[in-house]
Amino acid sequence: MAQGQMAPGIVAGRLSSDELTSNFTDLHPPLAPHEAAVAADRCYFCYDAPCVTACPTDIDIPLFIRQIQAGQPQAAGRTIFQQNILGGMCARVCPTETLCEEACVRETAEGKPVEIGRLQRFATDDLMSAGAHPFERAASTGKTVAVVGAGPAGLACAHRLAMLGHDVVIHEGKPKPGGLNEYGIAAYKSTNNFAQAEVDWLLKIGGITVETGSVLGESISLDGLVENYDAVFLSIGLAGVNALHADGVDKDGVRDAVDFISDVRQAGDLAQLPVGRNVVVIGGGMTAVDAAIKSKLLGAENVTIAYRRGRDAMGASRYEQDLAASHGVQILTNVQPVAVRGNGAATEIELEYTSSQNGQLTGTGEMVRLRADQVLKAIGQTLEGAPEGLKLDGNKIAVSGAGRTSVAGVWAGGDCAAGGEDLTVTAVAEGRDAAMDIHATLVS
Ligand SMILES: Cc1cc2nc3c(=O)[nH]c(=O)nc-3n(C[C@H](O)[C@H](O)[C@H](O)COP(=O)(O)OP(=O)(O)OC[C@H]3O[C@@H](n4cnc5c(N)ncnc54)[C@H](O)[C@@H]3O)c2cc1C
Ligand code: SF4
Repeated sequence: MAQGQMAPGIVAGRLSSDELTSNFTDLHPPLAPHEAAVAADRCYFCYDAPCVTACPTDIDIPLFIRQIQAGQPQAAGRTIFQQNILGGMCARVCPTETLCEEACVRETAEGKPVEIGRLQRFATDDLMSAGAHPFERAASTGKTVAVVGAGPAGLACAHRLAMLGHDVVIHEGKPKPGGLNEYGIAAYKSTNNFAQAEVDWLLKIGGITVETGSVLGESISLDGLVENYDAVFLSIGLAGVNALHADGVDKDGVRDAVDFISDVRQAGDLAQLPVGRNVVVIGGGMTAVDAAIKSKLLGAENVTIAYRRGRDAMGASRYEQDLAASHGVQILTNVQPVAVRGNGAATEIELEYTSSQNGQLTGTGEMVRLRADQVLKAIGQTLEGAPEGLKLDGNKIAVSGAGRTSVAGVWAGGDCAAGGEDLTVTAVAEGRDAAMDIHATLVS
């Protein structure tokens, strides 16, 4: 029996195919042209716009909204892509409620921001559906750069380098490029195979070769890359997961939430995907929320997120917490897992209430038991497979400036590098900025 998947309470087909199709539609459907015009009209086109400062990729938000208002959505798309070549995905997945829309003056004044995320999607969808790539490559520099990892950081770096005239080879360990855009982001945020469509569109710039199944530390080494390329950019994300310390976590029915989420994203037929009747997700971040909502959408009856601290300390934003609640997910705070019970397969989880004194978490001794045939661990990812010789900062690759590592000629960015939030948009910004620094170094 495959651990974590085939426990008796975990079965496929809890809902019909029609119900599943309707459950997994777009979370925020695209704006129609007249809706976009109305939404764009709400913008004050602020001077020194706070929404721009709040955007990690510094998109000129008032400019692109003005272009939409003027009936020029493709010009708006170009404004966005100049700063953020994955602006289409970011329009779908950015936690705008804690970034640009939180900073919007209309949020501050009225509690109702300009719908920047949906307007961004309107503009980027319009330009992407036109087919042609909006940028051209500069004359060849004759330099070749290796990028390791085809997630948002690697793709953004590769695209910018290709635009500047360098040749790029992306080494990606998985069978498909896209990183967590393909294997992690919630299915209801990125529908209709958008992640792969976006990669295909991005590669139209030319000059980028993607080698899948090419694993750093196995088929390739950092020393080899440094020797064979003019520069190296590491964007390997966080491939490891933190261990959960509780009794019984090796029982059937207990698994990592990221694997569960990846299965949902890669499932050809959601009706074939097993899910528990009573699901408990351990954690408090975006991954926990995604796993919990997906379990509900697949037909689990009772889904609980169990988090060891209070709601304010959760990594998931209040909007995401509310999204989970609106899908019928219960959020239990100030509890930590003590044991998963069951005879071979999980049937119950025992949690202890916690209290926090001076930031220190302690168990109170008071217990609560929940029925749980499936337990999903969402307690954080860790760096795995960082090449030896690279200086680390905590458990990430230490970088200075625009992603320079301790090894000459090697840059790093995205989740694997220290600093910045672990978000798609931050990874894009770091990939782009490292590309500019690599370019400056190569042509100086
Ligand atoms: C479940 C989940 C949901 C999320 N939801 C959101 C969201 O809604 N919004 C948001 O902004 N952020 C979200 N995030 C965070 C976001 O996905 C990441 O911050 C972002 O993908 C980081 O990009 P990256 O390029 O650094 O790494 P990744 O996207 O992780 O890409 C790293 C790539 O490197 C490859 N790789 C790893 N090791 C090797 C190796 N040794 N050799 C070759 N290739 C290798 C991997 O296969 C992968 O393709 C979510 C994260 C998770 C886990
Ligand atoms: S802060 Fe809001 S109103 Fe001002 S430019 Fe940005 S989106 Fe428009």
